[in-house]
Amino acid sequence: HEFCKRLPKIELHAHLNGSIREETLVELARERGVELPPEFHDGFHTNRDPSQFLNSKPRSLVDCFHIFSFIPKCVSDVAALERITREALEDAADENICYIELRTGPKILFHHEGEVCTKEDYLGTIIRVMESFERRELNRYEAIDRRIKSKTVEEAYENVDLAIELKASGCKQIVGVELGGDPTKNDFGEHFLPVFSKARRHGLPISIHCGEVPMARESRDRPDLVRAHEEALSILKFGPERLGHSLLISEDLGVMLDDLLIPVEVCPTSNVLTLELANHEEGCLLKGIQNHPQLRKWLDSKYPISLNTDDAGIFATTLTREYALVAKAFHLSKIDLSNMLIDSVETIFDPGKEKLKQAITTRVNMMLGP
Ligand code: IMP
Repeated sequence: HEFCKRLPKIELHAHLNGSIREETLVELARERGVELPPEFHDGFHTNRDPSQFLNSKPRSLVDCFHIFSFIPKCVSDVAALERITREALEDAADENICYIELRTGPKILFHHEGEVCTKEDYLGTIIRVMESFERRELNRYEAIDRRIKSKTVEEAYENVDLAIELKASGCKQIVGVELGGDPTKNDFGEHFLPVFSKARRHGLPISIHCGEVPMARESRDRPDLVRAHEEALSILKFGPERLGHSLLISEDLGVMLDDLLIPVEVCPTSNVLTLELANHEEGCLLKGIQNHPQLRKWLDSKYPISLNTDDAGIFATTLTREYALVAKAFHLSKIDLSNMLIDSVETIFDPGKEKLKQAITTRVNMMLGP
């Protein structure tokens, strides 16, 4: 754990609102009169501690989206947005994360005086917090970047246009765009392909969540499985710079992926909890990670992956913990772990990857000794 903590890590898959600290969510909810859903309190605590909202139970993807729907009600104004951004960066710095790509869907919020905060202001707020943080933590943050996510098709265009504009104006914090959110809503090929083609034409790297729900190439009575397969196929054909999760990829698409070698952002705790392979208890989580549908194979074949938290708040985890769990689950040595980290720097979206790789390699070599 100590070694994993000290490693100069990179975080490439962290949703801003999902990274909210548990106590911040509870406090914001209280201040803003939002009642958090009682079913997510830890049933094991007879005397329910309100700070135990994001408890240790396993939660399906559906449960997660239910929780997600409450967060924007609490992060409803600029002050709250500033706070969760600052705290996410502080938490990253505490974890020795030296490069982070925070992703978020721009939202319309309010200023304290009741004035509307546009999507541009939403991004501007995050970028300002990032800039001030970079200045303060110059040696720790090579770069801090964020990406944009969108839920509906019109919003997707709006968000991608915003990213294009900001990048064109020289904003260094916008490094790419991503597609996330409920995988059962909309279809990549049908709805989002033109949007992401536009982003690509403007030089924005792209990450797409993939394989979060079961799929099958053929099924007589489950058209949803076939639809999921078709969507994943259209994502692979599009060839984003990175993929999120890619857990339940069917065998034929697995073969295709082995050929394409698109780097995958792995989020171990999130993966095993949403697939309901484990609860949050240490031993169970370890077994769950050993049963991760892809991770062992990817580690064995040295497939390009990175380790990430996804939603550190929702899944009550840290990047240190993710590294330690994977090392323990698969008996990785310090050198294995360090090599995996250094290789993953290849997949960052910031153009300064060589410099970052060199800096991380130097620090890791110092940690490993002669
Ligand atoms: P936000 O974009 O900053 O509001 O971050 C929270 C959002 O990220 C959620 O509402 C989801 O749409 C998305 N998200 C977080 N985790 C996952 C995941 O595992 N799969 C798909 N979408 C996710």
